[in-house]
Amino acid sequence: MPSPRRAPADPGADIARRLGLPDPQALILHLPLRYEDETHLTPLAQAMPGEAVLVEGLVVHAEVQPRPRRQLVVQVEEDNDAPQRLHFRLLHYYPSQLAQLQPGTRVRLYGEVRPGFFGAEMVHPRYRIVRADTPLSDHLTPVYPTVAGLSQYALHKAITGQLRQADLDDSLPEAVRRRFGLVPFREALLTLHHPPPEADPAALEARTHTAWRRLKFDELLAQQLSLRQAAHARRRHRALPLNDKAGLGPRLLAALPFPLTAAQQRCLEEIRRDLAGGHPMHRLLQGDVGSGKTVVAALAALTAAGAGHQAAVMAPTEILAEQLHLKFREWLTPLGVEVAWLAAAVKGKARQAALAAIADGTARVAVGTHALFQDEVRFHDLALAVVDEQHRFGVEQRLALREKGSAPAPGPRLPVPHLLMMSATPIPRSLAMSYYADLDVSVIDELPPGRTPVTTRVLSDARRGEVIARLRDYCLDGAQAYWVCPLVEESEKLQLKAAQDAHAELTAALPELRVGLVHGRLKADEKAAVMAAFKAGELHLLVATTVIEVGVDVPNAGLMVIEHAERMGLAQLHQLRGRVGRGRRESACMLLYSRPVSDTARQRLAVIRETQDGFAIAREDLRLRGPGEFLGARQSGLPLLRFADLEADADLLEQARDAASLLLEEHPEAVRRHLDRWLPKGVALMGA
Ligand code: ADP
Ligand code: MG
Repeated sequence: MPSPRRAPADPGADIARRLGLPDPQALILHLPLRYEDETHLTPLAQAMPGEAVLVEGLVVHAEVQPRPRRQLVVQVEEDNDAPQRLHFRLLHYYPSQLAQLQPGTRVRLYGEVRPGFFGAEMVHPRYRIVRADTPLSDHLTPVYPTVAGLSQYALHKAITGQLRQADLDDSLPEAVRRRFGLVPFREALLTLHHPPPEADPAALEARTHTAWRRLKFDELLAQQLSLRQAAHARRRHRALPLNDKAGLGPRLLAALPFPLTAAQQRCLEEIRRDLAGGHPMHRLLQGDVGSGKTVVAALAALTAAGAGHQAAVMAPTEILAEQLHLKFREWLTPLGVEVAWLAAAVKGKARQAALAAIADGTARVAVGTHALFQDEVRFHDLALAVVDEQHRFGVEQRLALREKGSAPAPGPRLPVPHLLMMSATPIPRSLAMSYYADLDVSVIDELPPGRTPVTTRVLSDARRGEVIARLRDYCLDGAQAYWVCPLVEESEKLQLKAAQDAHAELTAALPELRVGLVHGRLKADEKAAVMAAFKAGELHLLVATTVIEVGVDVPNAGLMVIEHAERMGLAQLHQLRGRVGRGRRESACMLLYSRPVSDTARQRLAVIRETQDGFAIAREDLRLRGPGEFLGARQSGLPLLRFADLEADADLLEQARDAASLLLEEHPEAVRRHLDRWLPKGVALMGA
């Protein structure tokens, strides 16, 4: 077959594709990572370590040295009043380069000067052969983010080409632009791609230049606008108004061994008010570890059940879902509310039965993992979806659950389920104003009575012996403890082995104690048996994988040892530690680490040692990980901010919010223009 003749490929299109951009027009928003200053020569004597400079000199000598690794070594001497010498080394070179760099050749080198064995040196500088009268650049040189095989030169050329033909008109009406003190879009963009000689290099580098501020503002504005549009679309949806006509909630409250805290009551009221309305609830219930979110969720589910509809309750892992399921069954079954259980491990007849009960509405409440929103699951009339530990789900999973209404394709006219998300991870203010701008939040800001502070210590694994001795004393005194085994992300098998090894080691080292073991591979009833024995005080020490992360509640267990704490995330450490400090006994958490410990891990451990405040921990987590990972968004394709920084640019974020309101009210045409530029192809930013 003759191959179709193609028009010569547009280099812009090819480059855009290689960079993962939707189209060549998007190249104009491919902004420099940093700038290189080749506008002046720095005398070698003034070059500072760690700073890239442009130096010039004449080649004195050039040779290929075979050792320690074949390389081209060139000696250069400056051509000024107090000339100094410099070696530069090229590890990758062509023979022609040696021929070119003959003594007397004038070269200009850009790179970092370091002290070397033979004096000052540069490794792999960018260099150019020049004449004495070759002019210096009169502007900073942009350096773009790129991919392997795509040169700065090609990129710069393609971007410049786009800048020439693209529409650089302002998306903001003049009055709005002035009101927020912004420079014109065109001027900002050209400044960033082709900094004029007078542009302040420090401000460009630090991204505080007015040009940067304009671009960051625009980006934040696009985010705000798309969030508002999503919220607006949701308000057009209908949801079933839910009122607990059957009075199931009061019956559960009467049966509970404790009264709700004032904070729990307040949050429940907020949820009930939403549920009673005709529009889908979109609420986050946030409360620190152990603040008692589960019972509030159960009461919300009972509102749906009491109104004659269904609720689905989901947790991100099987173990967490199982814990929820046990609680829900304990609380709801006595009220005559059937609870279905669905997870990957539920197979065969049990699965068919659960699916049938969900489909015909016999099960008013379904608890499970994301197995709950697979295609085979049909709800009779789902009116409320509850997502526990919501930050651990990907954005797409959460949206899929929302879509799982009773109707095949929920649209503006068909009801969609109410959504209640729960998280122990507080949303820092900056995120609340951006990604979560679209969310109502209820906070359980008090813990149930009787919690005690936990002393946290960070110890090297070399002090394991001491820790075990402490454990012995603590348990012989009538208390109980947890030993949490390392997280082995790569392999569940290895994780299991680590837990079994620790169990064997501790059993041998502590013959006077009864030591139990629980891990994810145990069958549900085996796990339940071990947990029951621990709860009943028959075991002193529970060796566990991170299965005990959530849901375990044994007030007499006041000591926790966590192995390889350096591998765990802040939220996880905080969750784990939340298992102790629930009784009257003095509580402690010992974090064991093994070298090597990365810088970030060291910071995480310091944070967890210093504070027990979930809010402060979340803020640090955000700082250490960045919003992308914090949101669990990496895997979900959530478009993240490229230029603006939620923390550093908080003032711009506030302004972008105001500007979004203004545009939506007074300049709908500008909204479309702006979103077309920043979120082409209908990519929408999702709040949850
Ligand atoms: P989390 O918010 O971390 O999910 P849980 O819902 O698991 O917390 O609650 C932690 C423990 O506190 C559970 O044993 C729960 O039964 C108990 N609890 C919840 N609310 C109260 C309350 N108002 N008074 C006393 N204990 C409570
Ligand atoms: Mg919980």
